Parts: sequence; structure tokens; C-alpha cells
Amino acid sequence: MDSLKNYDIDFVKLKLGEHNFDYKIDDSFFSVKENSLIEHGNVDVHLIIDKKDRLMNLDFTIEGIVKTECDVCLDSFDLPVKNAESIIIKITETPKESDGEIIYLGPNAISFNVYDHIYEIICTSIPMTKACEDNAEKPKKCNPQMLKFLSKSTDENSNIDPPTDPRWDKLKNIID
Ligand SMILES: [Zn+2]
Repeated sequence: MDSLKNYDIDFVKLKLGEHNFDYKIDDSFFSVKENSLIEHGNVDVHLIIDKKDRLMNLDFTIEGIVKTECDVCLDSFDLPVKNAESIIIKITETPKESDGEIIYLGPNAISFNVYDHIYEIICTSIPMTKACEDNAEKPKKCNPQMLKFLSKSTDENSNIDPPTDPRWDKLKNIID
């Protein structure tokens, strides 16, 4: 079972210079998060921390698959994900609110938790539109039964403008 604690970086114990961390993320990672957008996945996370005096660079790279839903037919499939993100941690006497790229910690801080950062990097690696053809192993065709059902309900509502997404036109060709 995964837990938040596994993602604590006790940076005070780190010497100056580069340090490598590897995390193998599976379903239990996502179960830690309440109302997680993702429930299933296998993602390798590599984190390089470059520790300097009162400053740290954190470079994350992620690569793997997450189970997601097709926007067209709603079937679930394995989507390949890949992403990279960096954050900077500054130790300061007067910590202020993070401005996105820089996180400020007080002089007494000894550790930093990277769970939420990893979670966000995985979430933002999922594109706005995704369909069965993006399947990790090999592109799949959309669920034909669902397509039939969708095309039926479009006929019944023929007074409604058809969707303008070009993928719908492609799908129409498959059905025809
Ligand atoms: Zn589909």
C-alpha cells in the first residue's frame, strides 16, 4: 500500500549536489488521493534533486500508462503518458506563497513532500482529447455497439447541429 509518507524528501539529510530518486507508481498511488481523476496506471517517475545552498532544483520526468476513458465511445483503455516538469525550492527567512514555479520554505523546514507534484504532472500529461486509437499497445477501434447507439441518438435529434469535431466525421465514415 502506498502512502503520502513515501514521497517525503528529507532534504536536510542530503549533501549539496545531485541526488536521484525513482518511484514505481501503480494503482495504490492513486488510491492515496481522495477523488483521484485516475484510478489505474503504471508510471515510472524519475526525480533529480540538485541541492544548493538554500536552494533546490527538482526535475521530474514521468513515463508510463494510465487507464482512461475514450472521449468518443467511453470505453476504457491504456493511454501512454510522458511528461517533464521542474520546480525550485527556496529556503528563506520570510517564506511567502508559492508563485507557481518557486516554492518557499522557512529556515526550519527539514522535508518536502512531492506526492501532489507527481500526481499533477501525471494528470497534466493526459491530453484534452483522447480516443481508442491512442491505445498504448496498439490503436484500437472504438466500441462499435456504442457508435451505433450514438449514431441512433443523433438521428433522433436531427434538429440539433451535429458535433463539429473532425473525429466524428471520421467515425461516421466507419459506420457508413
Ligand atoms: Zn473509443
